[in-house]
Amino acid sequence: MKWSYNLFLLITFNLIVTPVFSQINHRESMYYNIGTSGVLGGLGAIINKKPDMPLGKTFVKGFAKGMVGGFFIYESKNVSSLITKHDKLEYNWLAKTVNCLGTSMVENAATNRKLLAQLNFNIGFNRFEIYTAEKFKVKYKILPVSLLLTSYVALNHKFEIKKSFSTGEFIFSSNKLASTWGSSAYTLGTAVAIDEKSLNTNFIINHELIHVYQFYDFNPINTYLQKIDSKLEQNSSFFKFYNKYFYNDMLSTITQTSLYYIKGNSDLAYRKNFFENEARLFTE
Ligand SMILES: [Zn+2]
Repeated sequence: MKWSYNLFLLITFNLIVTPVFSQINHRESMYYNIGTSGVLGGLGAIINKKPDMPLGKTFVKGFAKGMVGGFFIYESKNVSSLITKHDKLEYNWLAKTVNCLGTSMVENAATNRKLLAQLNFNIGFNRFEIYTAEKFKVKYKILPVSLLLTSYVALNHKFEIKKSFSTGEFIFSSNKLASTWGSSAYTLGTAVAIDEKSLNTNFIINHELIHVYQFYDFNPINTYLQKIDSKLEQNSSFFKFYNKYFYNDMLSTITQTSLYYIKGNSDLAYRKNFFENEARLFTE
C-alpha cells in the first residue's frame, strides 16, 4: 500500500503545484493522467464495493486498473497530436478510440469490473456502451449535461458538418467569436466552437479536442453515484427510464469545470492553467 500512498501524494502535489509553472512536459502529463486515473479508479472501487470485499485489496486493484487506463488516456492525447503534425483532422478518430479504451478501463476499475468488461465509445454527447463480459450487447445512452451544453453552443453558432465528421466531435463556428470572446476558439463540455477565420487552422481545433478529452477523463467519477442511482431507480419509474437512456454526466462536468476554474481563467492564470498547458503540450 505504501507505493499507492506515495503516488497519491505525488498526484496531489502535481494538481496543486503544477499551475505555478507556465509549462509542463510529457513526463508530467503522463504522471498526471496515470495518477489521476489511478485515484479515480481506486476511490471508485471502494465507493462501489460490495460489503464482503476487503477495503485495501479493493482499493489497490481499482488503483492499478485505473493507472492502466490512465496510460491509454495519456497515449490518446499523444496520438491526437498527429492532427497538428500531419495537418489532418481524421487522426482524431484513432485518438478518440484509444481515449475511449482508456476511460472505459478507469470506469471498469471504479466499478470493480474486469479491465475490459465494458467499453464506452463517445461521440460528443452520445455514448455507446459495449458489453463484453457475458452476453455481447450494445446500449445507446445520452450524456445529458453534455447535450445541454452542445445545444447552447448550437443556438449561437453554425454547425460544421464536415469538420464534425472528420473528428467525431461536434464542431461549430461563428464569425463573432474572436470579437465577442476575445479568443479564436473555446470548448464547452464536448462542443467545440471555432472562429470562422481559424476554421482551417487544424492545430487550434486539435487544442480544443484535447479539452474534449479532458472532459471525458472525468467521466468515471459519475460511477460514484451508482449506488444512489440504483436506489432511486428502485423507487421511481422516472429514474428507471432516466438511467436506461441517460448516463448522468453532472458530477464529472462539475468536477472538471471546478478544477479548471480553481486554477484560474484570467489572462495571467491562463498561462499557468494545467488544462491549458496540457492542451498546448500536445498541439504546439
Ligand atoms: Zn485552451
